[in-house]
Amino acid sequence: MNDATPAGSVHLHDVGLGAESYPEPPARQSNQHPEQAPLGHSGIVSHPGKKSGWGRALGRHELRDDARRAWKTLGSSREKPDEFRSLRLCGVVAIPGVGAIEVRRNTSGEENRAAIVGTSSCGSPWACPVCAARVRERRRMELHGLVERGTAKGWRWVFVTATLKHRQGQSVAQQRKAIECAWRAMTTGKKAQERRASGAAAGTVRAIEFMLDGPNGSHGHIHALVAVKPWVAVKAGNGELWVQNTDALAEKAVADAMTAMGASWKGWAEKHMDGLRPDDAHGWKWEMARSARDATDYVTKTLKQDDGVQTDGDGWTVSHELARGDAKRGRDSLSAMELLELAVNDLHETGDCARMLRMVEYARATRGMRAITVSRSLTDALGKMDERTDEEIAQDPEAMGDEWETVAVLPLDVWAMLMRSVGVAGVLEVAARDGTDGLRRLVKRARGTPPAG
Ligand SMILES: [Zn+2]
Repeated sequence: MNDATPAGSVHLHDVGLGAESYPEPPARQSNQHPEQAPLGHSGIVSHPGKKSGWGRALGRHELRDDARRAWKTLGSSREKPDEFRSLRLCGVVAIPGVGAIEVRRNTSGEENRAAIVGTSSCGSPWACPVCAARVRERRRMELHGLVERGTAKGWRWVFVTATLKHRQGQSVAQQRKAIECAWRAMTTGKKAQERRASGAAAGTVRAIEFMLDGPNGSHGHIHALVAVKPWVAVKAGNGELWVQNTDALAEKAVADAMTAMGASWKGWAEKHMDGLRPDDAHGWKWEMARSARDATDYVTKTLKQDDGVQTDGDGWTVSHELARGDAKRGRDSLSAMELLELAVNDLHETGDCARMLRMVEYARATRGMRAITVSRSLTDALGKMDERTDEEIAQDPEAMGDEWETVAVLPLDVWAMLMRSVGVAGVLEVAARDGTDGLRRLVKRARGTPPAG
């Protein structure tokens, strides 16, 4: 961070509270402006469905703020007293070595937005409302680019949904392991290598997704794209013939490859899951996209779209389907973010912790897993994706491409004081709307009130 105060911004000076450890910010009354909100822990937890893109982003920040206490109380055990520290302190604690927290506001774009620079992010595309949106949107854009590059070179795409059967009560961790093993068995070995070499199944992009709290518990499945090269080897007599991937012979070769992959997928389950073979209708579904746009349409008509996601005018595309599992709405089960929201509400309203414990289990089971996985054969042929880790991507506040100006540089103890009073969402809301003046009022007000707890 630059020590000099940028033009038009202001240093909000030390108010002498000392830099204690960062506490959880209080929950806030819904729709209550942070400058009017009571300081300290109070209020009803609510994340109203706001209409604007910024309103929805703010809702994710509020949910993250409101979940901090839950991660602390229910995500700790004697063995691991602060297992979920990074989730709990995401966006609150300063990056080591950073001496002040910078608040920025955009200078272009249709609505005012704000961003914080200098705090660390947990980077979880699974359990953190803020990081999930950032990381997954970034991965989605990269994936979109990869598919476009391939399509421009004549590659084609097969859209796959793969599920395994599971027993009632089977944990997310057990399901994750089974799905990863079945996928690995299908995409490694001699036959997989032959499929890659033939061009009929040249590589894969895969995303694991979990729907939670359904009638049969939680359920994981895979969304994947299988890539078909411009030229495909087909059997001809004793040799092979290379034909274009739009040729009927090539399409048959692709169909054969997909059938073989499905057989491997289901066979693995039968062998390793006590004969629990996925059924033919749902275990392995695939469809050849006639074009990149066709893949988009196929997905668009089969899935409900969440209005909280930027779709660039193209609707819910195949890249959304793979990368934005965080934004989906389940019919009879919940996305992780829906579960988190309900869990936080439960804790606040009735003290019931059952849902939060399931959220903790899910966070544990998905830890370290990437949002989407692209096979080496694809990136070798079509160019690499962003190689930064999810955690590194989550740090980037300018992922949305707006231009930003600094509206305040906050010493760490002032920042800590604001975290105790209004939380990250409160700072962002005021900064976006009222800029430097609003933040100055916010600090003044927080300074005049003893810190909670
Ligand atoms: Zn996070």
